[in-house]
Amino acid sequence: MTGKRRLQELDKLRVWHPFTQMKEWNSRTPLIIEKGEGNYLIDINGKRYLDGVSSLWVTVHGHRKKEIDRAIKNQLDKIAHSTLLGLGNVPSILLAEKLVSIAPRGLKKVFYSDSGSTAVEIALKISFQYWEQTQKDNKKIKFIAFTGAYHGDTFGSMSVGEIDIFVKKYRPLLFDTYRAPYPYCYRCTLKKSYPRCKLACLEILEILLREHNREIAACVIEPLLQGAAGMISSPPGFLKEVRRLTKKYNVHLIADEVATGFGRTGRMFACDVEGISPDILCLGKGLTGGYMPLAATLTTDKIYRAFLGDQSELKTFFHGHTYTGNPLGCAAALANLDVFKKERTIERLNGKIKLFKRLLMDLHGLKHVGEVRHIGLVAGVELVKDRVTKDPYPSGARTGNAVCMDARDRGLIIRPLGDTLVIMPPLSIKEAELKRIVKIVRESIIKVTGE
Ligand code: PMP
Repeated sequence: MTGKRRLQELDKLRVWHPFTQMKEWNSRTPLIIEKGEGNYLIDINGKRYLDGVSSLWVTVHGHRKKEIDRAIKNQLDKIAHSTLLGLGNVPSILLAEKLVSIAPRGLKKVFYSDSGSTAVEIALKISFQYWEQTQKDNKKIKFIAFTGAYHGDTFGSMSVGEIDIFVKKYRPLLFDTYRAPYPYCYRCTLKKSYPRCKLACLEILEILLREHNREIAACVIEPLLQGAAGMISSPPGFLKEVRRLTKKYNVHLIADEVATGFGRTGRMFACDVEGISPDILCLGKGLTGGYMPLAATLTTDKIYRAFLGDQSELKTFFHGHTYTGNPLGCAAALANLDVFKKERTIERLNGKIKLFKRLLMDLHGLKHVGEVRHIGLVAGVELVKDRVTKDPYPSGARTGNAVCMDARDRGLIIRPLGDTLVIMPPLSIKEAELKRIVKIVRESIIKVTGE
């Protein structure tokens, strides 16, 4: 057996892949990536693929970005890891200062962890404990989250999540969460349309907040864009209203920007688009530019102060992961943010976003494209069986998956969320590459759906 064949066999024999039906996986030859270069992934046979999903939201400036490569190598010459329990380390301090300087106003403290799920878990625990330590006869022990929410795979983050196929089996173990509708305008449950609806879907949130604010610690939201739900973008003004209402009813707002952070929506953070600031901000994914598993939860001074006291008062936040504040991760994140500044990444995105929008128009005309949702450098292309009735394909047909597999043969990696195709290339994508991505998506849709 050649080295390559052996790797493929060993993968099937030993590796359990995430969110993957292994029976199906084991029946195919796995695609194994060996290298990366700019906006391309390269497999063990040397075939190149455009990285159309930024290796799942993380690759910001492309693969093998020399500044980030160098920062990690330099940090390796100093130290790879030292704990934040009882000790500080240099990159974690510098990064915290940097994050506070770019985050929405009012966020002053940084708590590190290592994944988006843990960043959310920490946010929930901080909010919960804050009320417990500041309210007499505290009853604020519940959360509001949105329909279609996805915040990670740990128990707390699953409890505020709502996507049935991910959480249904675990429901007996999850805590109850109030649920408000997230605006999925293409399939509006109120049968209204924006802007005439005047954001009527917010009424339920307001009712929940009015009637239950005494029991609610926080409202958790994916600002501007629900990723895993199918790239559902909220209409202008929605996020701002959520912020206004949570303030009015004295409930924390937790913004989960694990996916939307670091330029994805065209601004550094989605919250910046509507000029709002949450009480707690969750960051992950693009934080290190796609290099190291690092996450951060940012809070206000007000929240932080509620955890101060004598040891004996037990107000401490008793939470921490072994790799919390890992120096290699923090060094990568610092370099990532330096590149944002040096290359004026955000400022230069505008042209690409406009081009992306224009190119996506081309998909609107296809018979089985129901809706093309787009914000910044991320798009969701919802495929439907019937455009008039908006009837979906039967789920067993796995149309979205078939399109992605066809695109792969043509040299593009994209992923489906059900029958919504996700396109979110690195921010470093070049115009010609963007054109090629949308062209391949178009060809693959036509090939699979027949027109
Ligand atoms: N929150 C959001 C909005 C996400 O999209 C994700 C991951 N897709 C997470 C949290 C969980 O992040 P992780 O996979 O790093 O745990």
